[in-house]
Amino acid sequence: MALDPLTMLTISTALAAAAALYLAVEWRSIRASSLLFWSAGFATITVGSSLALLRANGYPLIGIWFANGLLVVAHWLFLLGVTRFTQTRLSRAWYLVFLVWLSLLLLPDEPSWSKIMLMANSLLIALLMLRASQLLRPHGKSLGVGAVQLCYVLLIHGLFYLAKAITAVVPGTLIDLAAFRGEIIQISLVEGAMAIMLIALSMTGTERYRREKQIARLAARDPLTAMYNRRALEDRSRRLLAEVSSARPGALLLIDIDNFKLVNDLYGHTAGDRLLIALSEMIRAALPKEALAARLGGDEFVILLSNASREYVVELGSRLRDQFHQQASQTFPTPAAVTLSIGATRFVQPPAHLAALIEQGDAALYESKRGGRNRIRLIDAQPAEEQAIR
Ligand code: GH3
Ligand code: MG
Repeated sequence: MALDPLTMLTISTALAAAAALYLAVEWRSIRASSLLFWSAGFATITVGSSLALLRANGYPLIGIWFANGLLVVAHWLFLLGVTRFTQTRLSRAWYLVFLVWLSLLLLPDEPSWSKIMLMANSLLIALLMLRASQLLRPHGKSLGVGAVQLCYVLLIHGLFYLAKAITAVVPGTLIDLAAFRGEIIQISLVEGAMAIMLIALSMTGTERYRREKQIARLAARDPLTAMYNRRALEDRSRRLLAEVSSARPGALLLIDIDNFKLVNDLYGHTAGDRLLIALSEMIRAALPKEALAARLGGDEFVILLSNASREYVVELGSRLRDQFHQQASQTFPTPAAVTLSIGATRFVQPPAHLAALIEQGDAALYESKRGGRNRIRLIDAQPAEEQAIR
């Protein structure tokens, strides 16, 4: 089958319908409104290019003016989808696009009609796409690889339409919209089919990539304190542990709140939650660069340090104990002090697994608790002696 204009248009209609369906199905699972706008955009192209098939049968108003108008509406919907995706607002001036389009109805029926129509149509689409592409440019915050891809695809699509508008004004260019004659129209039909595929795929990529990142972030964090959970700590600790040597010893601090149940019992579960959040913020603020921290569950937290001297481990533990004791006693006074017990371990060889370190920390923590709470117990591999520091 030869790729004559009508065949190309039929292919584009089918591709646009598939893209509309694809994005609608994607919306059903991801529920991001941008996907709905983009799907509506492709549905509009499907209707528009079906109507365009009528122009050869002598319906210029429906086949050319209305069909091209729908193409502008479709690109307008693409732009709206981008504003939803980037959470930006569009100035009201952009609605003037439709006024420009309506004014094209007043064009006199003369030989230059096709050229002016094609130029105005292309300029409007170029404007909409260049604006959409500009909105997708990462402004300080990363929008993800999917969005960057869409940004470039829309930019190229917009520049293509800009070039199309310019070539339309070059004297001697043949443009006959009614008969689909002229090189620009031929090239445009091929670009259209390619653009539909590239734009639709990039659009799906944007929201899917963002959703995947969101899921990964939720899966890695404790919902109450937003600290890493145990699995996330295990994943992220590998590099830190691999760098441990006798020149750069590592350390793990296991922290458990003493008498925490008293806060829950006397002030309620929400008060207990607030204290857990306060402790997580103290840990975050005290954490040196490269260190990792996580909430293991309940009132138990862990800190993993690289290149940690014995003095630093003890100083960090004491600082946290003092700060926490002060805040807990002021905010939620209790009959028995609500303090921190810490079990710490310092190591000079990368352990086989983080779980082994946590086990050692647990043993030290148990000794802290047994020793009367509100203290740090350090098991130090360098030298191999244990110290209890009150
Ligand atoms: P100990 O001094 O021996 O550590 O005793 P404790 O009172 O601190 O209690 P323990 O560490 O044995 O148990 C932790 C308690 O923390 C159990 C549970 O009631 C409470 N808890 C666990 N998760 C949460 C939470 O998300 N919010 C609140 N408010 N309380 C929690
Ligand atoms: Mg406790």
